[in-house]
Amino acid sequence: MSIHKTKAVVLKTVNFGEADKIVTLYTQSYGKLGVIAKGARRINSRFGSSLELGTLIDVLFYGKESSNLSTLTQCNITESFRKIREDFDLLSACFYMISAVNEMTREKQRNDSLFNLLIESLSTLLKIGDIFKSIALFEIKLLKILGYEPNLKQCSACRTEVSDGEVKFSVTKGGVICSSCGKIHNDLVPISLGALRSLEKMRDWDMAKSTRLKLSPSFREEIEKVLYPSIKYHIGKEIKSRNFFKKIESYHLEV
Ligand SMILES: [Zn+2]
Repeated sequence: MSIHKTKAVVLKTVNFGEADKIVTLYTQSYGKLGVIAKGARRINSRFGSSLELGTLIDVLFYGKESSNLSTLTQCNITESFRKIREDFDLLSACFYMISAVNEMTREKQRNDSLFNLLIESLSTLLKIGDIFKSIALFEIKLLKILGYEPNLKQCSACRTEVSDGEVKFSVTKGGVICSSCGKIHNDLVPISLGALRSLEKMRDWDMAKSTRLKLSPSFREEIEKVLYPSIKYHIGKEIKSRNFFKKIESYHLEV
């Protein structure tokens, strides 16, 4: 048996037995991990509010190599993202981000870039208040980090560079399709070269720089049609919380 210490974000909690919780964490040192928090549902639990979804915590846990579930012994809040919890739309966006990470990762695979993306995305959500942009940046960077980087320059079917003509995007092919290949493929959505260039910057620039990108309402509409469908395609199902803020994103359009 060994004791481990790491930073973690709470992805999911499920009640277990009479007073316990099974908690899914995305940890900095071990990737996604399931732990049991004994007594976490008691009123005077030592875990307090540290196991709320999306909270960044320092954790201590111990586990046996033979067991999948480690035992959480200590939990201290580093960042509660309190203001996210005071706003239903921000909270829905936060739930979407942690659900996407939970659904798209396997246990015990450390990925520092992914851990950093999750923290940066939650901070960005709080800082810029533009839910659409925060989510779109999260989505394209998530796809890149997990090896599903959309092909934005060369046709995903014939590999020729796409620089003009009628460009479309294929979620199943994972990128753009040129005008001639577009005639023989189904399930394509039109996308402008301008929206593609924005997507490239969103994918490749660091978070601080990419939050300053201006996204026109028409680019937003185009981006919406390729990013979430790509995430959904790789997960194989909808993420419920994505639909809550979808309805309100028009409030945050830049004019
Ligand atoms: Zn082609």
